Amino acid sequence: MAGSTGASAPVGVLALQGDFREHAAVLRSFGADVISVRRPSELAQVSGLVIPGGESSVIDKLSRMFGVAEPLKEAIAAGLPVYGTCAGLIMLADRLVDAIAGQQSFGGLDIAVRRNAFGSQKDSFEVDIDIPELGEPAVHAVFIRAPVVDDVGERASVLGALEDGRVIAVEQGNLLGTSFHPEMTEDYRFHRRFYNRVLEVGFQR
Ligand code: GLN
Repeated sequence: MAGSTGASAPVGVLALQGDFREHAAVLRSFGADVISVRRPSELAQVSGLVIPGGESSVIDKLSRMFGVAEPLKEAIAAGLPVYGTCAGLIMLADRLVDAIAGQQSFGGLDIAVRRNAFGSQKDSFEVDIDIPELGEPAVHAVFIRAPVVDDVGERASVLGALEDGRVIAVEQGNLLGTSFHPEMTEDYRFHRRFYNRVLEVGFQR
């Protein structure tokens, strides 16, 4: 593949809305060939996808408008590795709590996610969270109008929780989701975990 340092197909970042540029920069720092995904033709080229933070109700509307929602649901069901952060986690949840009327998600993760779970008093905050799967040190997590995982179904597993027990990082097969924004820090271990999965799976249509 022209411009690619590895043998794998490009990795996509869903670029409809939100902080997709920051995710693209992180993936490029790994040597990945990164493309912006807005249309089905772009989605069809990628071996993995990051869904960024932003506003899930807007990402939902735009993804349907661009015709990328249905093909993405199919790709998720077929095993496309996807990493969703914040609004991206909401988009990966099978069940939504406190969504706006008519809001839909792509689904894939057997979880219920509550939008804007921290209310206005804790709109944004940062905290160190121990993520056993990532080892030492703890992850410095940045939360911005963040969701939490209200319910974890049988197929999903918890990667991390706040001290009060609220779940903020989950994994299920090739899907990974965090309530917070590693792309805003310098700790890219979640992105690395996702990218390793992308290389391992070698997803193709
Ligand atoms: N509150 C936003 C939503 O519902 C998520 C915020 C974020 O992605 N930082 O989509």
